[in-house]
Amino acid sequence: MTQTTKPQTLTVLGATGSIGSNTLDVVRRHPGRYQVFALSAATQVDALLAQCAEFRPQYAVMASAAHAAQLAEKIKANSLPTQVLQAPGAIEIIASHEAVDAVMGAIVGAAGLAPCLAAARAGKRLLLANKEALVVGGQLFMDTVKRHGATLLPIDSEHSAIFQCLPEDRSSWATRVDSIVLTASGGPFRQRDPATLAQITPEQACAHPNFSMGRKISVDSATMMNKALEVIEARWLFDMAPEQIQVVIHPQQIIHSMVQFKDASILAQLGTPDMRVPIACGLAWPERIESGAARLDFAQLAALTFENADAQRFPGLHLSWQALRAAEGTTAVLNAANEVAVDAFLQRRLRFDRIHQVNLQTLERITPARPASVQDLLALDEEARSAAQAAVARLAA
Ligand code: NDP
Ligand code: MG
Repeated sequence: MTQTTKPQTLTVLGATGSIGSNTLDVVRRHPGRYQVFALSAATQVDALLAQCAEFRPQYAVMASAAHAAQLAEKIKANSLPTQVLQAPGAIEIIASHEAVDAVMGAIVGAAGLAPCLAAARAGKRLLLANKEALVVGGQLFMDTVKRHGATLLPIDSEHSAIFQCLPEDRSSWATRVDSIVLTASGGPFRQRDPATLAQITPEQACAHPNFSMGRKISVDSATMMNKALEVIEARWLFDMAPEQIQVVIHPQQIIHSMVQFKDASILAQLGTPDMRVPIACGLAWPERIESGAARLDFAQLAALTFENADAQRFPGLHLSWQALRAAEGTTAVLNAANEVAVDAFLQRRLRFDRIHQVNLQTLERITPARPASVQDLLALDEEARSAAQAAVARLAA
C-alpha cells in the first residue's frame, strides 16, 4: 500500500481476548495500513490500557461501569488521548460509528450479537469471529447484513477456508457446489475412554493440542460443540442446506476445511494452524498481507490423517443438524444452553459429560416461536438460559 492511501479505520470488539490480541498483532505488522479507532473489553482493565497506550484509539469501552471507571482513571494517569465511552449502548456506538470502516467481532458468546448487528446495520465491513452471534441471529443476522449492504467476512478458520475455496460469484454456488467439509481437531479428548469423561477438569479441557484460545471455545472444542456451532455458522454464511455440511476429524489441523463441487472435485485450504492467517485474510481481503504465521514446511509435515467423530464421545455434534431442522430459533436455544453449561463446568458446578445433558434438556423444554426481531432473539436467549440454569441445578455434581 502506498503512503498516500488512507488507513482503514478499525474497531476491535473483544480486543483483550485471544482473537482480539491476534488481530492487533497483525495490525502491528502493517503501520499506516490500519488505524485503530476503538477497542472494547469486559474485565481486563490493564490489558486494554496497554493496548490503548500502543494503538492510541479514539475510544475504549468496557462492558461494565465499574471497569470503565477503573480504565478511565488509568488512562488519565497515563495521559493517553483515548476517551472511555460510558454511554448506554457504548459497544454498539463504536461498532457503528461513521468514522469506522471495519469491525472485528471477537466478543465471546451471545453478548456479541447486538454489537455485530449494529455494525451490520451501519453497512460496515464485519470480520466475524464471534460465531455465537450468527448461531443466535441466524436468518435475521444474514438479512440485516444484506439489507444494509454490509460485507461479512468469516474469521473462524474453517469458514475462512471455505470462503477462500468457494467461487467469488455467489450466485453460482447453487449450481456448482455440492457440499462443504468442515475439519475438526477432535480436541484434547479425541482418544480418551468415554467412560472417563466425568472426571475431566476445566484445566484439562482448556489445554487444546494446537491452539491457545479463550476458555469457552476451548471447552467447546473438547466437547465438539464448537464444531456443532460451526455447522450452524456455515449454514448461514454459505446458505447451505444442513445435509450439505459434513464434519471430518483431522487432528493435524493443516487442512482448515474443504469445498466439494458437483463433479466430485474438492478444493481445500491449507496452512499452519495460526489464527493470524484468517484474521489477515479478513483484514485485507481481497488483497493479501503478511500475517506473521509460519510457512508450512512440507518436508517436516507428518501424515495428514482423517477419521469420523465418535458419537459416544462427542454426542453434542449431531445437535447442530437437529437444531437446524427444528423450528427457527432452536439454534439460539442450543447456544444459550451451551453457554450456561460451559460456564457451570468452568466454575466446577457441572461435570464435563453433563454439558450435553443440559443442552438436551433445554432443547426438550423450549419450543421457540419464530423470532422476528433482535428483541425476540434476546428474549428467547434469556428464556433458554433460565431453563438451562434449572437443568444445571438438577444435574449439578
Ligand atoms: P476470549 O475469551 O479470549 O476473549 C473474549 C473477549 O470478549 C475478551 O476481550 C473479553 O473481555 C470480551 N468479552 C467477554 N464477555 C463479554 C461481554 N459480555 N461483553 C463484552 N465483551 C466481552 O475468546 P476468544 O478470543 O477465544 O474467542 C472470541 C470469539 O471468537 C468466540 O466467539 C470464539 O468462538 C471465536 N473464535 C475464536 C478462536 C480462537 O482461536 N480463539 C477461533 C475461532 C473462533 P475480557 O477479556 O476483558 O474479559
Ligand atoms: Mg473454528
